[in-house]
Amino acid sequence: MRIDILTLFPDMCETVLSESIIGRAREAGHVDIACHNIRDYTEDKHNRVDDYPYGGGTGMVMQAQPIYDCYEDVCKKAGAGHLHLIYMTPQGRTLTQSRVRELAEFDHLVILCGHYEGVDERVLDELVDEEISIGDYVLTGGELPACILADSICRMLPGVLANDEAFQQESHYGHLLEYPQYTRPAEWHGREVPEVLLSGDHAKVDRWRLEQAVSRTHERRPDLLEAADLTPDEAEILRTLTEE
Ligand code: SAM
Repeated sequence: MRIDILTLFPDMCETVLSESIIGRAREAGHVDIACHNIRDYTEDKHNRVDDYPYGGGTGMVMQAQPIYDCYEDVCKKAGAGHLHLIYMTPQGRTLTQSRVRELAEFDHLVILCGHYEGVDERVLDELVDEEISIGDYVLTGGELPACILADSICRMLPGVLANDEAFQQESHYGHLLEYPQYTRPAEWHGREVPEVLLSGDHAKVDRWRLEQAVSRTHERRPDLLEAADLTPDEAEILRTLTEE
């Protein structure tokens, strides 16, 4: 997969996406990520990429021309007439794991980061396929949201995680939050690891983990269970919990 990020602060994205698992995935060729500086495409002789909002008001608005030319250049270099363009904005649909999974099926994505007060609406109307928010709060720019989106997509790609099934047990892959995790030592600050995890009985461990996942989800995110098609085992565990 290839991801191009259009931003005024490419180093911000480059730094985040060069570390740890995503950094190694890039080195191993599982994903190709390129960060482009929108400022390189401005036609303004002072290198400006923003201007005052029509109608007045505070802040600056990113201009259409440099964004348009940056995107066109990415498409041209990819030999594509159009590439799926995502604009990161608090006005978009909130990102979910199921949308992440769908986006991981694309061969090529382009992510646009806004800054200041946002982006001239006309270039969004002309180019953008999808608007994504990372939550109901406002950040200074789209760089962190773009990194979050890219990270969440990359870890779904084959070969990126040590075990491709690892994420299937995780919170939000299905309708359950993940069970609690423990590592050595078996006792820490007087707190012991649940005995079943030391038993070596895989069937019992699996059952315990399922019970924990259902009870955590019931406790913390009952909305996820309400919307879900539960397996008979999950339904039975939930029934026991609600009868208690
Ligand atoms: N004036 C805009 C509004 O009220 O909708 C907010 C602009 S925000 C200060 C600047 C940029 O940060 C946005 O263009 C967007 O790219 C990014 N951004 C901020 N919060 C975000 C969020 N929750 N999700 C995704 N992107 C966000």
